Amino acid sequence: MNDEILDNLNEQQLQAVKTTEGYVRVIAGAGSGKTKALTSRFAYIVNRLGINSSNILCVTFTNKAAQEMKKRVKAIIGDTFDVSLITTYHGFCVRFLREEINKIHYPKSFIILDVEDQKTILRDVFTELNINSKELTFKQVLRFISKSKSGSEYLNYIIENDTIKNKEEENLLEKVFQKYLEKQKRNYALDFDDLINYTIYILKNFNDVLLKWQKNLHYIQVDEAQDSSDNQFLLVEMLSRIHNNLFMVGDPDQTIYEWRGAKPEYLVDFDKLFPNCETIIMNQNYRSTPNILKLGNHIIKNNKIRVDKDMITQNPEGFEVIHFHGQNEFEETLWVSSEIKEIIKTENAKYSDITILYRANHISRNIEQSLIRENIPYTVFGGIKFFERKEIKDVLSFLRLIVFEDDISFLRMYNNPTKGLGKKFIENLNSIAQSQNLSLFKALEKNIEHKELSKKGSLEFINLVKELKEISKTKSISDLVKDILDKSGLSELYRKDGDEDRLENIKELVNSMIILENENKEIINIEEYLQEVSLFTDLDTNNDNNDKVKLMTIHISKGLEFPYVFLCGFTEGVLPSAMSIKERRKRALEEERRLTYVAITRAEKRFYMTESEGFNFTNGLNKYPSRFLFEISDEFYIRKGELSQEIIDEAKLQLKRNDIENTEVFNIGDLVFHDIWKKGIVKEVDIDKNEYLIDFFETGKEKPIDFSFRFLKKF
Ligand code: ATP
Ligand code: MG
Repeated sequence: MNDEILDNLNEQQLQAVKTTEGYVRVIAGAGSGKTKALTSRFAYIVNRLGINSSNILCVTFTNKAAQEMKKRVKAIIGDTFDVSLITTYHGFCVRFLREEINKIHYPKSFIILDVEDQKTILRDVFTELNINSKELTFKQVLRFISKSKSGSEYLNYIIENDTIKNKEEENLLEKVFQKYLEKQKRNYALDFDDLINYTIYILKNFNDVLLKWQKNLHYIQVDEAQDSSDNQFLLVEMLSRIHNNLFMVGDPDQTIYEWRGAKPEYLVDFDKLFPNCETIIMNQNYRSTPNILKLGNHIIKNNKIRVDKDMITQNPEGFEVIHFHGQNEFEETLWVSSEIKEIIKTENAKYSDITILYRANHISRNIEQSLIRENIPYTVFGGIKFFERKEIKDVLSFLRLIVFEDDISFLRMYNNPTKGLGKKFIENLNSIAQSQNLSLFKALEKNIEHKELSKKGSLEFINLVKELKEISKTKSISDLVKDILDKSGLSELYRKDGDEDRLENIKELVNSMIILENENKEIINIEEYLQEVSLFTDLDTNNDNNDKVKLMTIHISKGLEFPYVFLCGFTEGVLPSAMSIKERRKRALEEERRLTYVAITRAEKRFYMTESEGFNFTNGLNKYPSRFLFEISDEFYIRKGELSQEIIDEAKLQLKRNDIENTEVFNIGDLVFHDIWKKGIVKEVDIDKNEYLIDFFETGKEKPIDFSFRFLKKF
């Protein structure tokens, strides 16, 4: 008899599915069918044990993965079951709080704040406390808030109405945090950290609620368990205490959220927490060809903090992995585009079978331009297309305003950043412009003395545009953009928001302009430039056809699989990221290696890694292939494109210079020694600047010293 649930499962998967009772963990590499086992187990519990699907909690990490899982479960058990408890941690907490939050006298219609909302609150707080962005950035504050919320002390204020202790003499960050909390409380607003904290608080303090949910959740399953944080683990563990059925699956080699508190230890040491637990290990990969798997296995072997495990597969040999090295970024992505066309033609594949992965969002700029030029439809997953991003549109609008003085650009920019020019101002300007038949800009310029129009902000704006027009006559477009950003206050605005992505994207735009200028060996004319980029900005975005190449970051691709995968921008300083190279924790580089492993193991049929040489004008460094490429022997891939020995040698030399994996790490209070400055003591460790502050007391010098400085020894 055919068995829809149990057919097509291997022995270990069957064991995982049938061991429904107790504490069970599955540790297995990528593509070994963990998620398949977990979804089959869900179906098994419903169909064979007769448990209601709404009594099974099944959590995973991203919305995309949760959707995917629901789809897989429904395909087995049918559409009629309630699968709303197949969700993310956040999704579960929202669901829980909508039912239970009145216990702490919050309305069920509480508000959930996203990062943009948090910044809106902070903007108010900064004004009230008279703080400017030189003193603090939003990013610093948001990090502080999140850190402070990793403890539960703040809940005493929020929920138990404890008075705030007098923070007068405490630091500015504390003050901002307190004000932020006050505003949150007044508006019954919860940010992302609160969702899980409030949930745990209620479960811990209201036994009846705890009992109700514990009784209700007969079975709990956790996918991607290697990325669970303290609180996330506590939540599922607490909820499992009556029925004692907790099933966790994961792969420690795919931990990619350590920076956000992931603790793979919960999975790795599960047997210590629950001595009677069952452990199931799987090592057969069903997803990828042997070539792809070998590459992944060999990269991840270089991590020191791990349990060794190799994946095997019985899939047919398939294609060789390809590394393409371009002479410049243009060549890199042109090659990707032509390879995509080749795949479509020779393999009878669809665009949607192809996925391009990258480490950082701004890498997509170059890829997108190539895809557009080559007429390849694409979509950006979990993000916005490069030329549709707010900061990019702002800069391009300003350029357009300088050249064309058009109303659309004027309306976007006249009060951006805000200059206090309100609705009344623009209404007045509009009617004057109409009566004189002028553009808004010309009307303002001509009537700037008019009492309704003559404001501090409008004067500033007119003068700014005039000044920039002058500058545009002599300077290159990339320099002009830098002036626009500085003089308009946009740079300041983005910096204040502390949105690193925004600044990175702007840098990337300027970078692309410099590359263009260098290619042309002459100053490019703004009009021509705008015409060129209009190709990228005036896209028909309402194209509903779903057959498109997918672009996404590696983080978003977690748990998913695609027939053809390109990993682009496989460059030192991108993957591994510059941050991780400079970070003090050796673990940071290992996390980058795991990210590379995640990228490789998404691929089913073919895997490509590409990068290019050139000069990165934004950080002033030459581009070299990622160190991870040099860690694997070239028998594991075929190289296309010319990579000279010279570049290889330089790259390796550079690596030696930056080899922080082997530099010593110091903590506050450590005694150190330098040949010239003699003995010293570490006074501060500044993670943001990657610097120690060292008091060389023997020679009487106090110096900031970069983490990567190699001439400092422990004394
Ligand atoms: P990741 O670590 O990337 O999350 P995973 O271990 O969750 O991977 P799955 O996504 O469950 O792996 O499975 C990978 C692929 O292998 C899927 O396409 C799945 O359908 C297929 N697969 C899993 N188990 C089997 C099996 N026993 N027989 C055939 N195919 C299988
Ligand atoms: Mg999975």
